[in-house]
Amino acid sequence: MDLSAPCVLVIGGHDPSGAGIAADIETCAALGCLALSVVTALTTQNTAGLHDIRPSAADAVRRQVELLAEDFPLAAVKVGMVPDATIAQALRTLHDGLLAGLPWVVDPLLRAGSGNALAGADMDLGWRRLLAGTTVATPNRAEALALAGTDDLDTAVATLLADGCTALLVTDIGDRDGQLVNALYHRGQPVVVEAMPRYPGDYHGSGCTLASAIACCLARGAPLEEAVREGQRFAHRAVARAHRPGSHQAIPNRAAAARP
Ligand code: PLP
Repeated sequence: MDLSAPCVLVIGGHDPSGAGIAADIETCAALGCLALSVVTALTTQNTAGLHDIRPSAADAVRRQVELLAEDFPLAAVKVGMVPDATIAQALRTLHDGLLAGLPWVVDPLLRAGSGNALAGADMDLGWRRLLAGTTVATPNRAEALALAGTDDLDTAVATLLADGCTALLVTDIGDRDGQLVNALYHRGQPVVVEAMPRYPGDYHGSGCTLASAIACCLARGAPLEEAVREGQRFAHRAVARAHRPGSHQAIPNRAAAARP
């Protein structure tokens, strides 16, 4: 056990087929961090689709975080699936109180890669409330537009930054010469626009991998832009080396992504 491994608190849903909290834990391990995991929901799904969601009780989520914060020197927080507004409110309170001052990476998930909803209708507003004070939020283009209630990306970026997140990494804002383009907006300006080869097919847990990798880099003390660049490189390698053990979406290979 590497005693210097930074502790990253990962808060999200359990997916038996490997996205969500399992992807977070694998990413943290690959990047030499210790993941401390709090499950917000049990999902019933495989790589073909999602069948059911059982949200955790908000007070159980809160109590688990409190006990972990008492015990471990937390260095960063990553939030994935939040199924309902009562859990969002518990996280809001923790962000403003016990866990204030830590870097927070929030991946505002609305749907699983299979297209099924991962959050209740009350979470459009729930996510918006959670963005205030977040170090970086990582919506994809569709999530950014849906959360802001607009069809225009510039308006969505301005709206979500106005909610109070320090930075916004919008993934897959479009194609440039067949490449996938992500943009990091910091104080309204796109500061890092990165284009990467787009691999064909669907990947299960690629967004979780990216957000967790950024959280690990922040936990190690990297400045925001460096953490985002490094996180993107890691997630990109995991997708490039993905395997397809199930019958539908491929699974990013986080262990293999640890190698340059
Ligand atoms: N969290 C959970 C619990 C999930 O089930 C999923 C997708 O199925 C995700 C997060 C998001 O996965 P992705 O990273 O593919 O957007």
